[in-house]
Amino acid sequence: MPIAFDNSYAELPERFFALTPPTPVPAPRLVQLNTALADELGLDAAWLAGAEGVAMLAGNAVAPGSTPIATAYSGHQFGQFSPQLGDGRAILLGEVVDRLGRRRDIQLKGAGRTRFSRSGDGRAALGPVMREYIVSEAMAALGIPTTRALAFVLTGAPVMREAVLPGAILTRVAASHIRVGTFQFFAARKDIEALRLLAEHVIARHYPQAAAADNPALALLDAVIAAQADLIARWLLVGFIHGVMNTDNCSIAGETIDYGPCAFLDSYDPETVLSAIDTGGRYAYGNQPSIALWNLTRLAEALLPLLADDTDAAVALAQTALEAFAPRFQAAYDSGIARKLGLPGDSEADTVLGAEFLGLLGAHGADFTLSFRHLSRLKAGVAGEEPLRAVLANDPALEGWLERWRQRSKATASGAILSVNPAYIPRNHRIAAAIEAAQERDDFAPFETLMTVLARPFEDREAFAAYENPPQQHERVRRTFCGT
Ligand code: AMP
Ligand code: MG
Repeated sequence: MPIAFDNSYAELPERFFALTPPTPVPAPRLVQLNTALADELGLDAAWLAGAEGVAMLAGNAVAPGSTPIATAYSGHQFGQFSPQLGDGRAILLGEVVDRLGRRRDIQLKGAGRTRFSRSGDGRAALGPVMREYIVSEAMAALGIPTTRALAFVLTGAPVMREAVLPGAILTRVAASHIRVGTFQFFAARKDIEALRLLAEHVIARHYPQAAAADNPALALLDAVIAAQADLIARWLLVGFIHGVMNTDNCSIAGETIDYGPCAFLDSYDPETVLSAIDTGGRYAYGNQPSIALWNLTRLAEALLPLLADDTDAAVALAQTALEAFAPRFQAAYDSGIARKLGLPGDSEADTVLGAEFLGLLGAHGADFTLSFRHLSRLKAGVAGEEPLRAVLANDPALEGWLERWRQRSKATASGAILSVNPAYIPRNHRIAAAIEAAQERDDFAPFETLMTVLARPFEDREAFAAYENPPQQHERVRRTFCGT
């Protein structure tokens, strides 16, 4: 079954993108197909897994209705503005309208050079492709807005990185691939007409309610700020570290996008940095809210010409809009922590209990995910206090905390807490082991088991009990790489 492409971005003026067919690869082999997602998109999984489907997923054939493009964008990378980035190794095949009526992009990542490749080869290595597949699907299962992974293929062509690695192509699905950097691209060129068209496109596609506002561009800015505030709160609540929150990796639709050296916390420490390229710790776990606001400030700057004719008036509007970020983030985070602790969250006492619990985790370097899971099992009545005492080194301060927690926690039902505190997250050492088996031995069994575990993160399953464990000392991954 050919795909019912319905492309809207490719209808925008030509300066938004470069028409770029993927570059064929020698020996495509489909490794993974997300049949549940295919179904959600109204695609025929059997067709995708067949010869024509695999040819499309490998970039060896352009399916009917697909208009392959590489999109243009700029971006601040680690605070430095690069006016010309764009899809250097990604090609948008087109859009489909899914079963729920949502427009979704289908993009190949690693499909060959484009006008935006600069010195890059336009390819992706198997490791980073698997990492994105695993982590983005885990985020989806955790209920966090994210791009999705539809499939990945091995290309049969090696890619040269620090070593020679197997090449792979990920098929990524997103609400759109429009970034803060897309607006910056046109703002930097003072192309107000393009800014206006982009804003109209985004409003129609992601924030239709903004069209009816007195000032649609301002309503758009407000909506993106709200979406990002909620998203970052959700990252923090599961211990997610994006790792490269450059403005070109910041989605206008509010999805988690561009999984590079991303990682989940083990030990709770807000200063945690795992990305090898983040030497200054700019994108540390606890910095993510302030970086998101920094990125949104860049978006607001790009939108200034659309906000008001008078620059001072536009700046004033932007500033007021940006002031909404901090309280919105804080409210989402505080109520999320209250839910994670099984507290009503309607009193300052709950915020204090949350801060104290995190303080205990921090003091003992306790595992973030496991500690909350132990507390959930206690609250749900499926385990006692011992496991929690053990991860907190029998700290006597826990006893007083538990007493106050019990008082406040009485008011909430006992079961819900297990569905906000995952047992299973994509732990770095598990991802590393899955990649190593695939890369070294062509063994995808550890990957498949990991995907099975992560698909139902909130459900204790005896057979997978070991997957909730933090790494042993020798298993600990201290650095993650983008591996571009
Ligand atoms: P990222 O690290 O994915 O945010 O990428 C930053 C920029 O570098 C984007 O413009 C990418 O398209 C580009 N890029 C990253 N890796 C490659 C590659 N292997 N070939 C060409 N361009 C790349
Ligand atoms: Mg990127």
